[in-house]
Amino acid sequence: MTASDTQSEALKRRGLMFVLSSPSGAGKTTISRMLLEADEAIKLSVSVTTRSPRPGERDGVHYHFVDDATFDRMVEEDDFYEWAHVFGHRYGTPKGHIRSALKDGQDFLFDIDWQGTQQLYQKDRQDVVSVFILPPSIAELRRRLEARAQDNPAVIQSRMDRARAEISHWAEYEYVVINDDVDECFRKVREILHAERMERTRQTGLIPFVRELMGTDPSPQV
Ligand code: 5GP
Repeated sequence: MTASDTQSEALKRRGLMFVLSSPSGAGKTTISRMLLEADEAIKLSVSVTTRSPRPGERDGVHYHFVDDATFDRMVEEDDFYEWAHVFGHRYGTPKGHIRSALKDGQDFLFDIDWQGTQQLYQKDRQDVVSVFILPPSIAELRRRLEARAQDNPAVIQSRMDRARAEISHWAEYEYVVINDDVDECFRKVREILHAERMERTRQTGLIPFVRELMGTDPSPQV
């Protein structure tokens, strides 16, 4: 890395909302975990849900688990950035401090479905970067879902149906990555994140930087 790369990477920038969506079984959870472990500059946006915790899931870490009445109250009080019904439960992104944190350069990872992604786009087009992860084939998706041994055939079939429904929204995303090999898929997702951080309008520190560089006021083409 050259001195000028170091300089430009240190410039002030706006954070981004990095959305990962996929059908269940396509590897999104693994990719999200790898990204959060590898990259300290991105934080998970912890959703609120009315579903019960699965074994190993912790309140406040994987989700904020709430009852129906609490979710109703949060909807009434306009506490959500977006929310949706997914597979018989409700899920939502709490507003919290996201807006102010974005301004301070904090990136957020969103593990949300296509409905949530559309709502984020409607609210905040410029800060959203969306990635859809596809399985390499339907046969492979079925194999991965069957490998989750606790599921009976009826549950697997209903997950396959939902997976097809989720996949039908692939073209609403900016980036699409096929998860044939998890390490390769992770590498590609990470490259997207790195490139998007360098997007010109996100780099709010460029104007003072170029002013200093040129000794005159820059006039960016916006
Ligand atoms: P799971 O119950 O398996 O954790 O998640 C089920 C689905 O709900 C996944 O597709 C996940 O991306 C989606 N989901 C999780 N949190 C949110 C959220 O806050 N908003 C929306 N719209 N979908 C979510």
